[in-house]
Amino acid sequence: MSVPKSFYESVFKENVISQWNSCYQISHYAKFTKEFFPSIPGRLKSIHFIPNFRITQFITGHGNFKAYLKRFNLSRTDLCGIGSSGGIRDVNHLILSCSKFTPAKMFTHQQFEEEQCSMPSIFLYFGPEQKLFCIIL
Ligand SMILES: [Zn+2]
Repeated sequence: MSVPKSFYESVFKENVISQWNSCYQISHYAKFTKEFFPSIPGRLKSIHFIPNFRITQFITGHGNFKAYLKRFNLSRTDLCGIGSSGGIRDVNHLILSCSKFTPAKMFTHQQFEEEQCSMPSIFLYFGPEQKLFCIIL
C-alpha cells in the first residue's frame, strides 16, 4: 500500500506553516502587522484579502503617513490638519478618527445597512484607481 504524494505535500505544507507561525510569533518585528493578522494560519485563511501597495502601508505602518515621514525628517509636522479631528496623522488616526474619511465611511455603512449585511470588523475600501479609500471598523 502506497501513500499518495498529496499526503506528504499536505503534511509538509502544514509543517512549514507551523514553523513560519512560530517565527512570526516570537519575532520582535511586525508588531503593527500582528494587530491586523495575529497569526500566519489566520492570515492564510483570509483568502479575500489581497494586499497591494496602499493596504501594505496600512498593515505595516510603514507608509506615506506624516507621523512616519516625520521620523525620517521627510515631513516638518506629524499633525493631520484635516478638519476638526486633529491629532497625529498615523495609521490609527486615519482608521479611527480622521474626518477625511467620514463621508466615505458613512456611505459604506449605509450600503451595508441597505444590503442588510453586518459590518466586518475591519473593512478596507479603495475607490477608483485606488486614490480614495476608507477603512471601517
Ligand atoms: Zn485627520
